[in-house]
Amino acid sequence: MKITVITLFPEMIHQALSWGVVGKAIEKGLIELHTVNPRDFANNRHNTVDDRPFGGGAGMVMMYDPLERALQSLNSSAPVTFMSPQGKRLDQKLVNQMATRKELVLLCGRYEGVDQRFLDKYVDEEVSLGDFVISGGELAAAVLTDAVARQIPGVLGDAESALSDSFMQQRLGYPQYTRSEKLGRKDVPAVLLSGDHAAIRAWREAQAEQITRARRPDLLEAGAAPDGETSGHD
Ligand code: SAH
Repeated sequence: MKITVITLFPEMIHQALSWGVVGKAIEKGLIELHTVNPRDFANNRHNTVDDRPFGGGAGMVMMYDPLERALQSLNSSAPVTFMSPQGKRLDQKLVNQMATRKELVLLCGRYEGVDQRFLDKYVDEEVSLGDFVISGGELAAAVLTDAVARQIPGVLGDAESALSDSFMQQRLGYPQYTRSEKLGRKDVPAVLLSGDHAAIRAWREAQAEQITRARRPDLLEAGAAPDGETSGHD
């Protein structure tokens, strides 16, 4: 999958996504990550990309023109996603849907945001991390890219491991245990040491169900309509 991020801080994107399974996926070429910086398209003496808002008020607004030239330089017809607190709230269902696309173009705002005329003309959807405000779209774009990357075949070593993650089947994940020098096998549920794979699977399913019921009963209700599956519906 090709992912292009339009950002004034490209290093934030490359740095954030250079680690672990996502970093490896980029190295292997499973994800082609590009950034484009509107500042390179500023076309004025001071490389200005922002200006004061018409009508006055605090802060600065990202200008239309450098953004338009930056976008046009991509020569892409992929839909443009604006990371925005005013967007649709990101969840696993949206992540899975976006993971079926061939190409993503993610726009990161800064300052007080982006000139509305650019959003009206070029942006196809807005996606929010949640009901809070952060200082720029970069961390949001990195979160979205990481979540999408995990759903791309070959990115996670074990094809099963994404499926047992929280939210993949309208359930939270089950508890995990591993070797400890200090604790030994103390308090490890006996079934996990039994070698009985069917029993282990049943225990994990029951745990996931119980934890979901206690913490997020809303997910189980949503599970009645299974629309969060990985299988692509475009
Ligand atoms: N004045 C804007 C907020 C600007 S914050 C408003 O009231 O809506 C600057 C930039 O950070 C935004 O343009 C957006 O790209 C990004 N951002 C802030 N909060 C975000 C969130 N919850 N999800 C995604 N992006 C966010």
